Amino acid sequence: MNEQIYYTKNLPFYGKYDVIVVGGGPAGVCAAISAGRLGLKVLLAEATGMLGGMATAGLVQPFMTVYDRDGDEPTVGGIYREIIERLDEFSAVVYPEETDSPSIYTSFIKKYHRHVTPFHSYMLQVVLDKMVQEANVEVMLYTRFSDCICEDEHIKYLVLSALEGLISVSGEIIIDCTGNADVAAASGVYTYKGDEESGVPQPATLMFEVGNAEYQKSERPTLPVKAYRTPRKGVYSVNHYHVYSVDATNSKSMSDAHRCARLQVLDAYRVLREETPGFENCELFQVASVLGVRESRHIDGVYKITVDDIAKGTKHSDRIAVYVFGMDVHSRNKNETGNFKIEVAKRYYIPYRSMLPKRVNNLLVAGKTISCESQAAGGLRCMPCAMAMGQAAGPAAFLSVNTKKTVNEIDISMLQSILKENKAILD
Ligand SMILES: Cc1cc2nc3c(=O)[nH]c(=O)nc-3n(C[C@H](O)[C@H](O)[C@H](O)COP(=O)(O)OP(=O)(O)OC[C@H]3O[C@@H](n4cnc5c(N)ncnc54)[C@H](O)[C@@H]3O)c2cc1C
Repeated sequence: MNEQIYYTKNLPFYGKYDVIVVGGGPAGVCAAISAGRLGLKVLLAEATGMLGGMATAGLVQPFMTVYDRDGDEPTVGGIYREIIERLDEFSAVVYPEETDSPSIYTSFIKKYHRHVTPFHSYMLQVVLDKMVQEANVEVMLYTRFSDCICEDEHIKYLVLSALEGLISVSGEIIIDCTGNADVAAASGVYTYKGDEESGVPQPATLMFEVGNAEYQKSERPTLPVKAYRTPRKGVYSVNHYHVYSVDATNSKSMSDAHRCARLQVLDAYRVLREETPGFENCELFQVASVLGVRESRHIDGVYKITVDDIAKGTKHSDRIAVYVFGMDVHSRNKNETGNFKIEVAKRYYIPYRSMLPKRVNNLLVAGKTISCESQAAGGLRCMPCAMAMGQAAGPAAFLSVNTKKTVNEIDISMLQSILKENKAILD
């Protein structure tokens, strides 16, 4: 692809916002809600036709554990908790208090899986639609971030690919929640993909659901199809097979991987029906519309969370969230086995500095692409953790806009007190 063409075009200017959140997954939705509730003018641009990211389009379930390593105390509150309470209005969730492991909700996995939150993915779309609307967030679905125009380490304009064509918008603060660090990469932030040495990311998986099934024993059968019970009786979410070395920032790589994963789903479905007691008559209910990508880019941030931080539970003074899940690194190639290789602390902490990219002063990053070592991302990538980070990005943007300070200069103790007022857990 050496040949290049030069192209200029005047883009319609769609509007000026206090905050533009790019990507409406677990991190992006919580960032937009928390910023909107503080009275900021917020635009949320999402590439697909729904909010929720991996939780909805990716059919990833359940929300991983929200309790500490030993299952004693909750680690995530705030907007995550509101979301599950709203899901409960539709009888579309099982509260984490009711799902200690091992259980059908965790496919009988014991370690690190205490108190997960099974939910109904369609109802989640509906709940998220309502919550962003109530927070006065302007939502543009089917709108993909394409590029940005920067000046003096500042993002001046975003170029979005809307259905009507390319448009431009400006925001005082941009929050990149794309799961690919697309805005960060386009604005010149250094990013890296996958494992530090090999560059190989965790594998991808196409999630699907089957109905008319029920485990026959109180343990997973010997065949390793991982099926997690959803809140609906007989309906299981299946997380099986891997596609290796997928580059989620490359259309060709994603196309090849998605095609391969489609066939893997058929094979997993066959194994369930032919070899899994209780699943003999199961039916393929739905298959995710997007490929599940566990790992893509990580940003080079002001602080990089290390494996050591996760193992020892380093209590950063600028912490904006607590989380605990084991460092779940799925095999990066066919020959590798085993995850959860290093024991984690009872609780570990996410510092604000890990959401701050170097070099750009009006950009925050939340979700699975924050600045951390690849292995550390094995735990930090979970959806409740992404939600907690997103919830923190909103008030950080608010403080920056209101005090006319850059995102690097805001008062962290004020950020922490806003988070605590809104039931986020920091200790
Ligand atoms: C197979 C698999 C199984 C998993 N299992 C679990 C589990 O059981 N429990 C758990 O808690 N976590 C699990 N995870 C991890 C979790 O799903 C993700 O890490 C989490 O969703 C990350 O949230 P996010 O908001 O950072 O990104 P995402 O959920 O990826 O959301 C990113 C959003 O940004 C949008 N977007 C992307 N690019 C652009 C762009 N250029 N412009 C506009 N929008 C854009 C996407 O469409 C998407 O909506 C799993 C992940 C995978 C892949």
